[in-house]
Amino acid sequence: VMTEVWRSVDEYFTGQLLAPDPVLDAALEANALGGLPTIDVSPAQGKLLHLLARSVGARRVLEVGTLGGYSTIWLARALPADGRLVTCELDPHHAEVARANLARAGLDAVVDVRVGPALDTLPTLDGPFDLAFIDADKASNAEYFRHALRLSRPGAMIVVDNVVRGGRVVEAGSDDPSIRGTREVTEVIAAEPRVEATIVQTVGAKGYDGFLLAVVN
Ligand code: SAM
Repeated sequence: VMTEVWRSVDEYFTGQLLAPDPVLDAALEANALGGLPTIDVSPAQGKLLHLLARSVGARRVLEVGTLGGYSTIWLARALPADGRLVTCELDPHHAEVARANLARAGLDAVVDVRVGPALDTLPTLDGPFDLAFIDADKASNAEYFRHALRLSRPGAMIVVDNVVRGGRVVEAGSDDPSIRGTREVTEVIAAEPRVEATIVQTVGAKGYDGFLLAVVN
């Protein structure tokens, strides 16, 4: 019952605050046609990422976990003409769909889709980045965070998605790799003097989850 309320509230505010967007709609259609899972951020969450990137004056953005590039489009649209976004994707088919979506969005010159395990790509990257969005396999979140921090400028923002997991994050003894990875990254961040962090629990069209937001000192 609550999920229906969350969904209709999401739809209400999305209808009020987000302009109709044929390019983003086309990306979601292409994802569905390509058989991609519907695990992109919601429209309201995508716009949050866009606004965060604008707020930090982002010129360079790092993303871990591209899928079909839905969040990538939101983030890349926050960049100036000479901005750059590097996004890491394991699955070549996801990357192919994303590249087509980004080309349709007119962002192929701004976005660099790197195919392969993110832990192979990240050590090859040079910073500094102004914002990092971590949204791939959750088991590796702590490693992704360490790379994002290494690649960040002071004042950069690091966003980790899906940290609440329907509330299951509090299950300390869980053997679910996603729960363990989420708890591990939280512990790493808690012990890391170079960042200040908080979390935002979210409900909406995508259920009950949350973002961890960290700012690099
Ligand atoms: N950020 C996307 C969005 O909101 O539109 C959603 C990303 S989806 C939740 C996670 C993606 O991470 C999937 O496309 C998956 O193939 C990719 N992935 C999984 N393991 C990975 C790895 N080791 N390296 C890079 N990408 C990985």
